[in-house]
Amino acid sequence: MSQISEQLDRRRTFAIISHPDAGKTTLTEKLLLFGGAIHVAGAVKSNKIKKTATSDWMEIEKQRGISVATSVMGFEYGNYKVNILDTPGHQDFAEDTYRTLTAVDSVIIVVDVAKGVEQQTRRLMEVCRMRNTPVIIFVNKLDREGRDPFDILDELESELKISVRPLSWPINIGAKFKGVYNIFERSLDLFTPSKTQVTERVEIENVNDRRIDEAVGEKDAEKLRADLELIDGVYPEFDTNQYLKGKLAPVFFGSALNTFGVKELLDCFVKIAPSPRPVEAVERRVNPEEEAFSGFVFKIHANMDPNHRSCIAFVKVCSGKFERNANYKHMRSGKMMRFAAPTAFMAQKKNIVDEAFPGDIVGLPDTGNFKIGDTLTDGEILHYKGLPSFSPEMFKYIENTDPLKSKQLDKGLQQLMDEGVAQLFVNQFNGRKIVGTVGQLQFEVIQYRLLHEYGASVRWEPMSMYKACWVDSDDSQALEAFKKRKYQFMAVDREGRDVFMADSNYVLQMAQSDFPKIRFHFSSEF
Ligand code: GDP
Repeated sequence: MSQISEQLDRRRTFAIISHPDAGKTTLTEKLLLFGGAIHVAGAVKSNKIKKTATSDWMEIEKQRGISVATSVMGFEYGNYKVNILDTPGHQDFAEDTYRTLTAVDSVIIVVDVAKGVEQQTRRLMEVCRMRNTPVIIFVNKLDREGRDPFDILDELESELKISVRPLSWPINIGAKFKGVYNIFERSLDLFTPSKTQVTERVEIENVNDRRIDEAVGEKDAEKLRADLELIDGVYPEFDTNQYLKGKLAPVFFGSALNTFGVKELLDCFVKIAPSPRPVEAVERRVNPEEEAFSGFVFKIHANMDPNHRSCIAFVKVCSGKFERNANYKHMRSGKMMRFAAPTAFMAQKKNIVDEAFPGDIVGLPDTGNFKIGDTLTDGEILHYKGLPSFSPEMFKYIENTDPLKSKQLDKGLQQLMDEGVAQLFVNQFNGRKIVGTVGQLQFEVIQYRLLHEYGASVRWEPMSMYKACWVDSDDSQALEAFKKRKYQFMAVDREGRDVFMADSNYVLQMAQSDFPKIRFHFSSEF
């Protein structure tokens, strides 16, 4: 076996996603404890930006610092090399999360047993579905009162639009929670509230074993048997292939805070989760085993120190071996580049690395060469397909308040858009610049960063806008006629593509019915 395939087989690169407060940070921390990457609980800082902090600049800066430190967390577990990619919890940064999902091979979804499937989870799952990303679901907070686990399963199935198969099953919930029966390993784990890693495991032969009755009492043991019978009747056998195709999600129950059910989750995860998979480039499908290095930028993180306008480009290695100081081709510019100080993130420490393998993330210090979605190769012409931009949901005119700094403003805006903070459109009628985001917070971040990193001051002017959508047509005359009729509402994006800015749902629907030859797209990939 070649060195690359050997390294590849043991890599597990994934993200944990959840609605804020479901327990993502807690679960991440517990996984790191098992991986020996940290030794005390409380070492992982949540990078979520609390609602109350929306106008607290320093808080945002602090949080951004935390999120660079916890962007990628790698650790060894048994023979496996596990890479967790962190995603911001705050929904205003959902776009960041979407892009991170392009760099993972699988996902763990955390759901709060009392709240069930929440909005953010639903949206993130849509992105997973678009890419057929395999998902494992962890139902958390079983130590608290919550919903009936069968109800939760139904909701997971209908809300996330995926088949589910429980691989563990809780015995009661809340104050009466006694533990979980691990269907995957056929064992019984008894719950004792604790923050350590010890779980009391009762060795049993099978579900009819009397030791279950001794451990949890006859009544609960009978209920467990009845539940398991029902599960076997209702849910299909767990089929790893279906999971790998993104069609079936195994479900675990536990309590991250009590480190309960976490090890079982991790053990199952490393066994069934995929190692890096082939990646589609425009030109061809690239296999990770290939000798030649290739990778793409999925995230750019600006330096917090305004005096050094440098950033870190996060590259996912897709094929071959990445080597320090080797010459690689930056596809968009055609330039050859060498990286003397690529970093990787192991056990929460940033280290310079000499090599990296498919599934790994390397951080490349950069001074403005990289854009989200850029491909690096060892010479071959390849362009990895990124995730499309989605129609933004909030819009404001951006106004320069210091005419002497318009150059700085242009440069800053360009850089921020390259980082993928927001999308920029130019209205064709009045030439005004419009920034579109997925959340209010981005406007504040942009204004702050333009001032502090580029010395450009701007103000926002509100505009009432419902949606921006990309338009095209096979009939160029029809397109021209549409643009003429709607000239006040036409804009172009940074690639010069036509964008229709509808100020209400009604206007959009009217346009769609009045102009049947025009196609309206809600994501930039069409
Ligand atoms: P995130 O926003 O998804 O990262 O959520 P956190 O990990 O920060 O958790 C949100 C809150 O839920 C925190 O107060 C945690 O202590 C708490 N929490 C997490 N897991 C559990 C659990 O298993 N049981 C209970 N009772 N609380 C939990």
